[in-house]
Amino acid sequence: MSHIAHIALGSNLPVSSGPHSGNRLSHLQFGVDQIATMSALTIEQVSSVYETEAHIWPGAPPQAPYLNAVLRCNTDLEAPALLRALLSIEQQRGRTRQPENSWLARTLDLDIIDYGGLKIEDEVLTLPHPRLAERRFVLVPTAEITPDLFLPAPFEANVVYLLETCLDSSDVHLTPHKLRIPEGT
Ligand code: ADP
Ligand code: MG
Repeated sequence: MSHIAHIALGSNLPVSSGPHSGNRLSHLQFGVDQIATMSALTIEQVSSVYETEAHIWPGAPPQAPYLNAVLRCNTDLEAPALLRALLSIEQQRGRTRQPENSWLARTLDLDIIDYGGLKIEDEVLTLPHPRLAERRFVLVPTAEITPDLFLPAPFEANVVYLLETCLDSSDVHLTPHKLRIPEGT
C-alpha cells in the first residue's frame, strides 16, 4: 500500500577533497538522487532550498549554517525500511555519528518528518518527527510544498498552523538554489 512520506534534508558540512567532496548543495542533491533511485518510491515534489543558522546546544561552539529542503514522496516501503535506506544514504555521503552528541556538523542529514500520519515510537524511529514543531527549517519548506499536511498527535495540527505558532525565531531564508528530481527514475 502506498503512503505519502515527507523527508527533510540538511547539510552544513562542505568537504573539500576525497570521496565525499562537495558543497552543501551537492550533498543535498546527492540525497535527492539516491532517494529517487530507491525502488518502491517516487518523489512527487521538492521544496525550495533554504539557509538557516545551525541550532546548537547552549555553550557549544558555533557551526556553519545549513541548507535545508523537504521532499514529498509516494512510497510502498514500510517506514522502518525507509529509515534504513535513508541512514544508508547518509553514510554513503560520509556522515559520521557520535552517539553522545547527535547535533554535530553533518554532510547530509535525512529525517522522516511524517509518514502518512503514522504514529511510531521505538528505539530507532519516532513518527511524526518529535522535534518538527520547534524547527522552522522543517516547517517552512514542508508548508511550501504541502500546506494542508496534517500532523498527528502530539501535534494534531496542520503544518501551516504549526508554523504560525512556532516559537523558533531563527531566520529561514529562501536561496536561489534548486534541487532537481532526476528524470526517468
Ligand atoms: P537529528 O536528525 O535529530 O539531528 P541524527 O540524524 O543523528 O539526529 O539521528 C539520530 C537517530 O534518530 C537515527 O539513527 C534514527 O534512528 C533516529 N530517528 C528517530 N526518529 C527518526 C525520524 N523520524 N527520522 C530520522 N531519524 C530518526
Ligand atoms: Mg537525522
